Amino acid sequence: MDNAPLDFAYLDDDNFDYGTPKLPDFDCRSESPADRSQLQRSEPGLPLLQLADWNPNLPYNECPPTCVHYSIVWKLQLKKVRATKLTGDTERNLVLAPGAFWDRTLKSKLEDLLKKNTPPKKCYKPHETNIAVSTQERSETDLSMRFDEWNIVWKDIEDQLRAWSNFFRAGKKLTINISFFCMEETQTIAVSTQSAAGTAAQHVERDDILLQNTIWNDVYALMRCPGHPCKNQGGHCWRNPDSKKHFFLDGQVLTKLVRYAEEGNPLKTHKDVPEFIRELIYAKEQAASERKLKRKGSLCEGGPPIKIVNVLPPHYGQASMGAPPVAPARRPANFSIPNPRDKAIRAYCDWHCRQVDDPEWKQGFQKACAITLREGFDLRHVYQDQDVKIFVTNGVKPGIARSFIDDVEIWVKETKAS
Ligand SMILES: [Zn+2]
Repeated sequence: MDNAPLDFAYLDDDNFDYGTPKLPDFDCRSESPADRSQLQRSEPGLPLLQLADWNPNLPYNECPPTCVHYSIVWKLQLKKVRATKLTGDTERNLVLAPGAFWDRTLKSKLEDLLKKNTPPKKCYKPHETNIAVSTQERSETDLSMRFDEWNIVWKDIEDQLRAWSNFFRAGKKLTINISFFCMEETQTIAVSTQSAAGTAAQHVERDDILLQNTIWNDVYALMRCPGHPCKNQGGHCWRNPDSKKHFFLDGQVLTKLVRYAEEGNPLKTHKDVPEFIRELIYAKEQAASERKLKRKGSLCEGGPPIKIVNVLPPHYGQASMGAPPVAPARRPANFSIPNPRDKAIRAYCDWHCRQVDDPEWKQGFQKACAITLREGFDLRHVYQDQDVKIFVTNGVKPGIARSFIDDVEIWVKETKAS
């Protein structure tokens, strides 16, 4: 994600034209460049009409123009994990000053559209507004501004239009691009405690992370295994609502559950786990028991059964309780770790820490990170070896160790996607 101030590129703006809208219906301004510079030197700027001076019944196609004309290109978006564009429009050839136009027309238009285009049970509130004022005059840079909610300081924008009025008179169009962001009310509260510092892009990025983490935390909390009689305490299980049987969940299934919730599906109880994810859970359980049988068989062939004493939690997939834990096989890692690899370990650790509140858990992840660095493993080794023991014997809690081992793939995918 680009952190440049007000970079509109991060938005979901396919089909959205940020180009300057077509010229107003009239255009009598065809001076030569020499005339233009003459104009800019000698003439005072054009006024911007306020409500008191503005007559809604006049066409304002006077030639030469007696006031500033400009356009507003706006879009209304919902801020979820990714911004979703609800609607947008271009208001061409405006002469009424933007602040007055907002009060008189645009604000109520947005309120109506927001109501009409969002689910009736959900309450969306204005969250943030990004504005860029631009002129076709290339020597001038855009004026970019960010406002909380819809608390737009129109005066600054109007001052800019006035300052550029001679460019307008010389044939350069003036445009205001506006992105209005709204959020579900509960979410707005969640992010409003964030500092007001930072660029708009950083804001969006950070808010997205916050939102993502909220869903992520909810899903992980729901699936957290309460333990006894299941031995997966600290890990994650899906409890079949009918049989009450625990099915261990690995990072892949948990990620699917998070995605499912992020798409807006209800996931409040174990009953809400959809059929396609249940099938995946059953398939993993089946494969795991087959692997276990195979290992048991090979142990028996090789002589008397060996009792493996192991205080570590059994690995994913061994859902039956009371079975002796078996050393995990190396699993393939079909991804590559971003370089430099030692830095990737630290970034991965930060990512884990952002997903938990408990300082002790954060410390656990930091410990796991330190062990990995000290032993010279890279994240691929961690993922492939599934060696919970090395972390646990060095003081990391088993559940933390498992998350640290299993979530590498998810992190790599998220890092590459962002
Ligand atoms: Zn369990």
